[in-house]
Amino acid sequence: MKTLIHPLCISVLSCALVAVRGNAQSEIGIPAGFHVIEGDHLRLISDMPDQAELSQLVQCFEVAMDHWGNLLDVPRQEAAGWKCTAYLMLDRKRFEQSGLLPDSLPLFPYGFQYGDRIWVTEQPSAYYRRHLLLHEGTHWFMWRKYGGMGPPWLMEGMAEWLATHRWEASEQRLEMGIIPRDKEEVPYWGRIKIIQDQLAEGLAPSLEDILRYDGTAHQRVDAYAWSWAAVLFLSQHPDSRGAFRQMLGGSLKPDATNTRAFFRRLHARWPALRTAWRLWISDLDYGADASRMLLQLPDCKPLRLPATVTIDVSQGWQASGLCLPPGARIRLTAEGRFTVANEPRPWVCTADGVTLEYYRGRPLGQLIAAIVAPQAQESPHTEPVSTIAVGAGTVLPSANGGQLILRINEATGSLHDNRGTITVRINAVDR
Ligand SMILES: [Zn+2]
Repeated sequence: MKTLIHPLCISVLSCALVAVRGNAQSEIGIPAGFHVIEGDHLRLISDMPDQAELSQLVQCFEVAMDHWGNLLDVPRQEAAGWKCTAYLMLDRKRFEQSGLLPDSLPLFPYGFQYGDRIWVTEQPSAYYRRHLLLHEGTHWFMWRKYGGMGPPWLMEGMAEWLATHRWEASEQRLEMGIIPRDKEEVPYWGRIKIIQDQLAEGLAPSLEDILRYDGTAHQRVDAYAWSWAAVLFLSQHPDSRGAFRQMLGGSLKPDATNTRAFFRRLHARWPALRTAWRLWISDLDYGADASRMLLQLPDCKPLRLPATVTIDVSQGWQASGLCLPPGARIRLTAEGRFTVANEPRPWVCTADGVTLEYYRGRPLGQLIAAIVAPQAQESPHTEPVSTIAVGAGTVLPSANGGQLILRINEATGSLHDNRGTITVRINAVDR
């Protein structure tokens, strides 16, 4: 069996309290003052003095076992005998001196998994400490299931996806695979800021570049952020989630075998996925609702004018199915009243939006448009899509041609309580 080495190292379940016990000194080879907390699947050894926190970590890990099993189709009976030892290190030197951190391991800043053992360095936030334990725990669970590792983007993306979590200690309730509500919920995590900064600076990698990451890419923190985003997107987009699930249902290999097979299965849809990825990554933010960010781009119908399109204000980007030829100029006229919030009372709005509140520099609720096309060729970087304010009406130039897509201007995490539709009429512009 191949041993895995990892350098950085949706569902909601709750469970009964896991029996844990503390043990300060009686273990052979465990230095005085260290604690050993024993769970069914995790034995945690640490020099951290806070035993209650250590017990919480073990309980969280035990609840995570059910999530890992459900997501990776490992029946509970099969995982019943799986057990991992984790070392949470406050003073790394004491672990080195006692032989609990072998010098044969490479230097790692945060965490590391090797067979049935994982190491995590102590973190300044309780959230990030649990995050690293769940990240390494995901590697360990996958190593147990597959007996080998997959390509770096998949392994690190899965570990980051499932480690991004919400833990309610009093209820023993764990949500894995969340998009955090705000940065205060996930201190020291920082993945969204990295993505937004690189996107703004024109440095965002293409989707293919992420899938091509080699075994050294994850020496950089941004590779974790992008692997997380790619797994989040590809595991949920209607065009790719079947192939993603199929990949996890087979065997994994550390080279490009799985990625190539995945890409081959999606070859026909890949140009549309590139475009959906650009829109998705532009919408990715704290509190984002991934289910409302997944544009499916249908084949275009030739544009016959006049035409009418109806937009649901509770959804993100929506494809019109209408293709504009290069150089076309069309007039859009929008009608309809809808609500963009319910508190303290319904905020009634038209396609011009409400100027009481702005989002990304435009009135909240304003109708916006973009013209996109399946992207046939990989570009060096992921670029944001240019959007156009429509409001109650505008003339839309279409220099390069493409499909008209529409939505209202609001964060995706706030779309769920909207009610209503906008009717958009499309007419030719007299030259
Ligand atoms: Zn990792």
